[in-house]
Amino acid sequence: MSFALIFLSLITIDPRYHTLDEIARELDSIAQHYPEITHLDTIAYSTTDSLPVFAMKISDNANIEEDEPAVLFVACHHAEEILGVEICMYMINDLVHNYGVDSLITHWINNREIWIIPLLNPEGHSIVMKGIDTTWRKNKHDNNNNGQFDPDFDGVDLNRNYDFYWSEGGSSSPPSEYYRGPSPFSENESRALAELARNQHFVFCNSYHSARTGLGEVIYFPWHGACGYPPDFTFLREIADSMAKRIVNDAGNGTYNALPGWSVDGKARNFLYGVYGTFAYTVEVSTTCIQPGWMVDDICERNLAGAYYLLERVEGSGISGHIYDQKTDEPLSAEVIISGYYDPELPARRSDEEFGRFIRLLTAGTYNLEIKKNGYETVYLDGIEVEQDRLTELNIHLRRITDESSIRKKKGIEVIPNPTYGYILIQLKDTNINQLKIYDSAGRLTKIFKNPETRIVWQCDDCSKRIVPNGIYWVIGYEDDKRTVIKTIVLHN
Ligand SMILES: [Zn+2]
Repeated sequence: MSFALIFLSLITIDPRYHTLDEIARELDSIAQHYPEITHLDTIAYSTTDSLPVFAMKISDNANIEEDEPAVLFVACHHAEEILGVEICMYMINDLVHNYGVDSLITHWINNREIWIIPLLNPEGHSIVMKGIDTTWRKNKHDNNNNGQFDPDFDGVDLNRNYDFYWSEGGSSSPPSEYYRGPSPFSENESRALAELARNQHFVFCNSYHSARTGLGEVIYFPWHGACGYPPDFTFLREIADSMAKRIVNDAGNGTYNALPGWSVDGKARNFLYGVYGTFAYTVEVSTTCIQPGWMVDDICERNLAGAYYLLERVEGSGISGHIYDQKTDEPLSAEVIISGYYDPELPARRSDEEFGRFIRLLTAGTYNLEIKKNGYETVYLDGIEVEQDRLTELNIHLRRITDESSIRKKKGIEVIPNPTYGYILIQLKDTNINQLKIYDSAGRLTKIFKNPETRIVWQCDDCSKRIVPNGIYWVIGYEDDKRTVIKTIVLHN
């Protein structure tokens, strides 16, 4: 009788799907064959069974960190969603086999850092692959601490465990399939992904899932929650739409669709975007979690079109650049604000520490930037043009605030000359100044600002928009019958 029960309860998974051992062997073999362009890492050991979580980096000079945009593909937060594992393995093989053969793939490998985590949840995956429970979702976290695996009580939903609005998502009840864990980042698996993201500053992440019920063949992006839309919503959606329409559906009569994810909670997608600004997407692969083996190659092949779109889009419309210390040329991690696309509630979007590099993906148009760092003068770059399908490159030097004489302050007016960019910033604080006039050293009226805003960028031009010569200028603020006079110096490059 027990034999019959076991026989009935074990469902065989098609051998087309990889087991963890097969993944380990295949990645190892690829790393040996392609040492120049691959780097195989074990980023974690699973929370309960200590199974390895592999990450493969594919890039030229794969063993060193280069100043190249990084993109992440990750699969199998949820154990039963095994199609994503196959997409990742398929992609790894396709990339390495076509290096030096296909010009686009060669370009991407030479100019990107492509990180792929084929199996984030190996211990949950093993329950599915052994046929013990092919609908298992969580890892095997020993929730009741009894030293054994209790399917009715154990496990954490890894995709509700990230430290971003953690308490808003999933369930607080251990038996739930959506149990978010005892605390944010209680699980080795989610913590390892977050750590990788902190180091790599991913521009994009595709996290592969499948829908057990509900909508499949959908790409979710951040977010449309109770707190509204995120600042990059327009850009996130444009890219999600472009990716979705490149992936043909299983039926062959249409494509995937893009939708904003409703909840703002401890999912990887929300965490990666919310904390690091990564454009993070959830791809719900196919129409159900486990498809027959004969369908797998075809599903993978069609999904590559979406993944590869991201690899290309990294160089599309947007602004990228480096931020340096003006004196030492050292790279700086500084905050990059795009006016109108900024949420002060979210952590600052910063350039990376190693190279001072930032990438902000946008659509074609004109943008105003503000570059901020404590101890440095803020730089305002107004009217930066972004073209279709091209990254605008900027190199920005920040000047350390050491020489107080360069900034002049008097009764609510602050004048900050910025020789690097040929403008002077005039800031008004707690004052009722209703007119500003600028005179040159010979006493000629050069420029007038009526009803000035609190922040005025004087482009060192006169009333006819001609650039003025270098020299001393007088900024005079008028408030009723009172005048405040400050000297400044114009010094073009
Ligand atoms: Zn899922």
